[in-house]
Amino acid sequence: MARLSRTKPSSGSTILVVDDDAAIVSTLEQILSHEGHTVLTATSGAQAIELCQNHTVHLMLLDYFMPGMTGEEVVRAVRAFNQEMQIVLQTGYASERPARQMLAELDIQGYHDKSEGPEKLLVWVDAALKAYRQVRALRASRDGLRYILEAAPELHRLQPLEDLLYGILLQIEGLLGLSGTLIALQQSGLLALGDDPPFEVRVGTGRFVGKNWYQLASDEQKLVLEAARSGQIQWQTLLALPLRAGERVVGVVLVDRAPDSSADREVLELFSSQAAVAIENVRLYELATIDDLTRLATRRHWLVRLNDTLRLGLRHGQTLSVILLDIDHFKTINDTYGHLAGDQVLSALGHTIGHSVRRSDLAGRYGGEEFAVLLPHTPLEGALALAHKLCQAVRDLEVPWEAQTLRVTASLGVVSLQVESINRRSAKAVLETARTALLQAADEALYEAKNRGRDQVVQAPELSTRAFQPEEAV
Ligand code: GH3
Ligand code: MG
Ligand code: MG
Repeated sequence: MARLSRTKPSSGSTILVVDDDAAIVSTLEQILSHEGHTVLTATSGAQAIELCQNHTVHLMLLDYFMPGMTGEEVVRAVRAFNQEMQIVLQTGYASERPARQMLAELDIQGYHDKSEGPEKLLVWVDAALKAYRQVRALRASRDGLRYILEAAPELHRLQPLEDLLYGILLQIEGLLGLSGTLIALQQSGLLALGDDPPFEVRVGTGRFVGKNWYQLASDEQKLVLEAARSGQIQWQTLLALPLRAGERVVGVVLVDRAPDSSADREVLELFSSQAAVAIENVRLYELATIDDLTRLATRRHWLVRLNDTLRLGLRHGQTLSVILLDIDHFKTINDTYGHLAGDQVLSALGHTIGHSVRRSDLAGRYGGEEFAVLLPHTPLEGALALAHKLCQAVRDLEVPWEAQTLRVTASLGVVSLQVESINRRSAKAVLETARTALLQAADEALYEAKNRGRDQVVQAPELSTRAFQPEEAV
């Protein structure tokens, strides 16, 4: 067949032509290649099935009537392992007309009568390839939605903000099949000062690890700002995904490269709104449970955790300990250097204490310059070891203030409660008595440390829940 015009650019689609008549195969191959399609050919059903197994075929143009295997048998075999491929049957005679029911059952697009000529065939090809793209897109969004549903419990778990943000980046990388992302949080209006950047880069992966806002390229900054301003995905050489909870943009995820067009915009938007809500919830939770100045648990949160730990301890018979720590002569720091210097010391101390305890322990700010550490599953000797370590860490702490270095010491009281597992009926009464006794004993030990000259650890006599059980429950 003579070429009348130049071949069109590649369509990206692969079409398999199957016909026992080699002349028809050859003609179709020329017409379809001319349209820019990649063409595979087969002259028997068995050959066609083998090609389908080894290549990604988007459309099969299949002769309905062939010696050996019929078109219908070929389709049955192919459908067993491929449900996405589009199939158009080619018929030659009116008597060959395939039954509608069979077309529906085997998900066949339709049939084309060879006598109708190539123009009509190309209309079929266009329709089938369009259907293929739609099937693919649907499948991609279904996979994306499933991905989001599976990620949801992990996203909405209460966890430290940093862990959540890192988790969000990993999920987005998984969703897009790309790596190298960062998450920039909108500075809250309350805290942002004149010189602060508009965004705080909290977590990054790939080439963004450890970068702050000012280390981003100016086009990267611009993309983040535009995503936040418009609330719309910015899809350029990089991708900027706004994290929107309703109308508020909580932050922006920047992806090192833009994903190809098969990535589903709606799925991304859905995921980002889930992520934004999760971030807001964790922030609210932190506001209620973390003390701003020391970054340790608030008194209320610490007491709630003490209660929970006691309740669990009473059920399972686990020993727990508490350390109270109070800064020595703290008033002098305030009086000599000012209240802001005092705050600086508290903040530094919070950092030191927070980093000295295990993850399973809970350090809190118990009062103005008084701290408390809760140690679940820990007997007295473990608690004493930590108390001495903390006492030394406070002694070693140097807090820069203007041209000077501030130093403090602290007094510590330590108490352990031996918890015997008890019957549920008396648990509530025992819990309340035990909690009061525990805090009182720690407080007395702390004041004993003050009396003995400060900068030291004093242990309270060991307590046992056995002493608090009502008569009839013993
Ligand atoms: P002692 O060794 O007996 O504990 O002496 P002290 O001076 O530490 O004890 P006192 O209870 O007399 O004083 C505690 C001081 O801590 C008084 C209070 O103004 C200060 N303080 C409490 N909360 C804060 C705070 O958030 N910031 C600052 N800068 N000071 C605080
Ligand atoms: Mg034939
Ligand atoms: Mg004090």
